[in-house]
Amino acid sequence: MTDIKSVIRPEKPVFFGGENPFEAMMSRFDEAAKVLKLDGGLYKVLRNAEKQITVSIPVLMDDGRTEVFIGHRVLYNTARGPGKGGIRFDEHVTLDEVTALAAWMTWKCAVVNIPFGGAKGGVVCDPLKLSVAELERLTRRYTAGIISTLGPDSDVPAPDVNTNERVMAWVMDTYSMHHLHTVTAVVTGKPVEMGGSLGRREATGRGAMIVTKEALRHLGMEEKGARVVVQGFGNVGSVTADLLQKEGFIIVGASDVQGGIQNPKGLDVQDLLEWRTKNRYLKGYPKAEPISNEDLLELDCDVLVPAALENVITADNASRIKARVIVEGANGPTAASADKVLESKGIFVVPDILANAGGVTVSYFEWVQDRAGYFWDEETVNRRLTTIMMKSFKDVLDTSKKYGTNMRIGAYALAIDRVAAVHRLRGMYA
Ligand code: NAD
Repeated sequence: MTDIKSVIRPEKPVFFGGENPFEAMMSRFDEAAKVLKLDGGLYKVLRNAEKQITVSIPVLMDDGRTEVFIGHRVLYNTARGPGKGGIRFDEHVTLDEVTALAAWMTWKCAVVNIPFGGAKGGVVCDPLKLSVAELERLTRRYTAGIISTLGPDSDVPAPDVNTNERVMAWVMDTYSMHHLHTVTAVVTGKPVEMGGSLGRREATGRGAMIVTKEALRHLGMEEKGARVVVQGFGNVGSVTADLLQKEGFIIVGASDVQGGIQNPKGLDVQDLLEWRTKNRYLKGYPKAEPISNEDLLELDCDVLVPAALENVITADNASRIKARVIVEGANGPTAASADKVLESKGIFVVPDILANAGGVTVSYFEWVQDRAGYFWDEETVNRRLTTIMMKSFKDVLDTSKKYGTNMRIGAYALAIDRVAAVHRLRGMYA
């Protein structure tokens, strides 16, 4: 008999770095709500998730056993439009984390002013231990479990950690089979052949690249030769590194789950991508020195891009960070307790809800194209993304100046104000 605990991990009370991710996010929310003088009723509405679904997902394994996985889907707030947010497959997924990420999506969509609310989903599993057939069955059964919330007008998932185009194709197919016709707009991040958008795969990294340039311009820093360290060399990190290098930045360090590499003279990102394709991890790359993920964050550089997981910059290591600018490619890489330390050091932080909003922006473009049945060329996608990211950077900067806050609280204030404004206009159905 299989011990079920070997598959379904007990809920973790805390996440990386010892901070509850929901409370970490909400402490920033509270600060911004105070700055905005948000009224008590709206404060309560925005501090609670609209809907939290937990499903058990029975999966027939290749060897004939039945396993049961746990999945969550959280709709945090849909005042501005359908819930929008990725699905992650990870053994560390918890309802708290999914709720925090769904709230983040609410603020993120509002920061870039697209007509979506915030949602997120996750399944507690280690996809590396599943076969492709098992992963497909798990995805389809999870989709069936949450199908009542899904739909182009209600809840639109996308890829996140350990999910990809292929997984989105299965979600879309399962949903379409239940609805007896093809519904491409139910997910974004699909393969281009079946209604995906050109430029979606690179969109988050491209958005991070655009706001990095805006930050340097704002600070009067030279782009050419600016030294960049990227933690996490997955979709977000590797594309950000590649595009920044093409803009004249020098990538001096990079890492993945197995560890990091550094070269003060610069890493050739294209060469590194080829190495990763052949060897899966950066470890062993011959034209660089190895470095631990912890030390990588403290490398001497101009721009640090944490693009892996939550809470890697903490009250413990923040004082040792040497970067002048932090561009948060990942969601929640900075623990709330580190904010003040970074601020006191004069480090300019481009917060996650702005820095990695390029992905959801092109997801929005994909949804628009699917619904219109008319597809744009890549240049159009990239041009419209650039316009939105530059405008959003300026909106956040202006808000932070207006209220005398840092960029993070400025971004939250901008987002909360936009969501609250719609609640006021719609009125409370209560
Ligand atoms: P991914 O799975 O493609 O890449 C994650 C990378 O982080 C991999 O290189 C992995 O090896 C590395 N990593 C994992 N654990 C690590 C650890 N403990 N230390 C160092 N590196 C580690 O995921 P992704 O899509 O690039 O997403 C990364 C982050 O960006 C997540 O926080 C995700 O929520 C966020 N994000 C992604 C998108 C998107 O469009 N993909 C959009 C917005 C935000």
